[in-house]
Amino acid sequence: MTSGLLVTKHHKLGLVAPSFAAIGWHVSELQADTDALGTFSGDVDRRHPPLETARRKALLAAGRPDVRWWFASEGTIGPSLGGLVSDRELVVAIEPRSGGMVAGAALSLAIVSIRLEVRWSTSEEEVVRACAGADLPRHHLVVSASDRSAAPVGALCDIDDVLDVIRQRRRRRRTLVLQTDLRSHLCPSRQPTIRAAAADLAARLATPCPACTRSGFGSIAPECGLPCAGCGQPTNEVSVRRRRCPWCMRVERKPVDQVTADAARCRWCNP
Ligand SMILES: [Zn+2]
Ligand SMILES: [Zn+2]
Repeated sequence: MTSGLLVTKHHKLGLVAPSFAAIGWHVSELQADTDALGTFSGDVDRRHPPLETARRKALLAAGRPDVRWWFASEGTIGPSLGGLVSDRELVVAIEPRSGGMVAGAALSLAIVSIRLEVRWSTSEEEVVRACAGADLPRHHLVVSASDRSAAPVGALCDIDDVLDVIRQRRRRRRTLVLQTDLRSHLCPSRQPTIRAAAADLAARLATPCPACTRSGFGSIAPECGLPCAGCGQPTNEVSVRRRRCPWCMRVERKPVDQVTADAARCRWCNP
């Protein structure tokens, strides 16, 4: 049985292991302080892009070359187009023997995430209003000081506790930040997306490359430019789906079934 080790601080094994059990792999957990690579509450900066952060987390398993793969995950929560909050989750696998990496990803707009800067002038009514959109107590909140003059207080799931922490920590000229506690074990709206990223990774690892036979063959960004049915100009619609091997870089292209795009999607026919 292929074995893997998931480097995690916040008990993500239950989210990741089932997808690998489904392809006959056994994954166990390695507890490590991944917070050193950045936290959501902002008390430790993320210095690297998400994929690199995930890679560095997985490398914390470097003392364990006895397993076939080292796993780690990384989430990025941020505003996206239209004012919705997006949650992009990555789960990566590093092969210790080669140092090569395969990544799975998932994107969701169903994340619950609030953020309020609490200044000296911010009223408790404003805090209570912000909490109304926070889905308490299913989700939790964290209060941090933007100047990092005090450690964040997280896992708050009661408005009275939130107000108590804010009253204790308020100072003139100090801005507090009240936001959703996005640590995965406390954030149920992140969990399905982490599961989906793990499923994407498992599907890749279960798919051998048709050229070099190594596992990890999976989809990459498609080609766009399907011609318009009205005028024949290229549109932004997908024309070719692509899969690539992360080892030998073999790319397999599969044109979509449609030959033309609806003229309604054309910037010439329907500007
Ligand atoms: Zn290959
Ligand atoms: Zn057209």
